[in-house]
Amino acid sequence: MQGVVTISKSNELKNRLVDYLKKLSTGMSQVTGSRPVLKITLLVCIPVIAVLVFFSSARCAVVMGDEVIAVASTREAAETAVEEYFNHLEQVTGMPVKIDKDIKYRPSWRFSSVVDKGEMQKLLSSKINVQYGATGIFADGKMVVAVKDQQTGQKVFDRLLDTYKGNSDTTVAFKQKVELKHVETNPTELADVDKAVEYIRFGGSEARKYKIKEGDTLWDIASAAHMDVEELTRSNPDLKPETMQIDQEIVISQTSPLIDVIATCTETRQEEMAFRVQEKVDNSLYLGEKKLVQQGKPGQREVVYNVTSKNGVEISKKVVQAKVLQEPVPQIVAKGEKKLLAFRGGNSRLAYPTVGAIVSPFGKRWGRMHEGVDIAASYGSPVVAAEAGTVMRVGTLGGYGLRIDISHGGGVVTRYAHLSSTAVKAGQRVERGQFVGRSGSSGNSTGPHLHFEVIVNGVHKNPSLFI
Ligand SMILES: [Zn+2]
Repeated sequence: MQGVVTISKSNELKNRLVDYLKKLSTGMSQVTGSRPVLKITLLVCIPVIAVLVFFSSARCAVVMGDEVIAVASTREAAETAVEEYFNHLEQVTGMPVKIDKDIKYRPSWRFSSVVDKGEMQKLLSSKINVQYGATGIFADGKMVVAVKDQQTGQKVFDRLLDTYKGNSDTTVAFKQKVELKHVETNPTELADVDKAVEYIRFGGSEARKYKIKEGDTLWDIASAAHMDVEELTRSNPDLKPETMQIDQEIVISQTSPLIDVIATCTETRQEEMAFRVQEKVDNSLYLGEKKLVQQGKPGQREVVYNVTSKNGVEISKKVVQAKVLQEPVPQIVAKGEKKLLAFRGGNSRLAYPTVGAIVSPFGKRWGRMHEGVDIAASYGSPVVAAEAGTVMRVGTLGGYGLRIDISHGGGVVTRYAHLSSTAVKAGQRVERGQFVGRSGSSGNSTGPHLHFEVIVNGVHKNPSLFI
């Protein structure tokens, strides 16, 4: 509307100028009434000079019909702007552009405000209504983008589908119902194949591009663009880390497409089959003890999948067929459940309670019963629990001196006597082989040694049978 404003402003000025000239000539006739030649000369010259001044600028208005579109700084500038605009229209539409009203150029008042080329072209495009019979690409009944013709529209569809057509047996289709329909549109609104494809794929925004630099990883690029690698590869279905090249252009737009492409294909994949772990009871092992009998090995199978993906991202897969190439080998682990079976005639043994040889056996000795074995341990040798159990008693007991009694359950007790020190308390749980005290010579003893007893249900047994 700038052109119109300019006109009203110059009309006003023109009126004021005319008033002024009238007044001037009236005054003049009073002064020069008796000299008609001078009067005529002045009456002619002053308006001419005024008109010359009025139009002395080189400014040029672009007029369409009766309407001033805008004023350019020079006629040349006005013509260039108009010419370029129509060239652009012709380029976009690929055909000569005709408009119903002629464009004219008119000199303009020197003080008119002028517009630059871009502004002039904007005003032209808002005034000139060039409607062009084009083809609209529609998705689910909504127009997405307009292209020149049906053929271009079809090319856009083909390109969109081809983007996600991996191998020959991939079938691709649009998720939305797409149509090509006749639309009337301004040529400037038309997109070519590349633009239309980009517009649709990147959700109606121009795709932002990035040139790969030396040392870039997909992760670097994605995180710099505040997206994850999956989103990045979604926008660039052909992009693979192993084929990335310096200066390669990739798209870092994040938006979702206006038309989705659903691709389905049959894919054969080789997959590993996990092995099972089996447990087997082994009577030679104690409770809690485990032994690997057979190392498991994964198997291999070939699976034919029906894979469905949307815009290049797998969304579902169905097994069509599966064939085992190699059965997995199960892992077999032996598991012990034995609880000190030695006491019940089993073949397991107690831990040797200290270091040293048996110097005095179980049995009758000097006419008396020796109810344990004596092990020649030097003074202060570590003494360990012969089996896991609970400490029953710690303290001095007559001829035994300082002793420890440990209960192992099932009526089995072991006793360690003549100790010099103890490291456990009554009620304490001990493990097989755990340090419980040190050997010595306390109580009725002839020298440092460990007196060791095994008592089953209150009856002393020969420890040599168990250790
Ligand atoms: Zn003894």
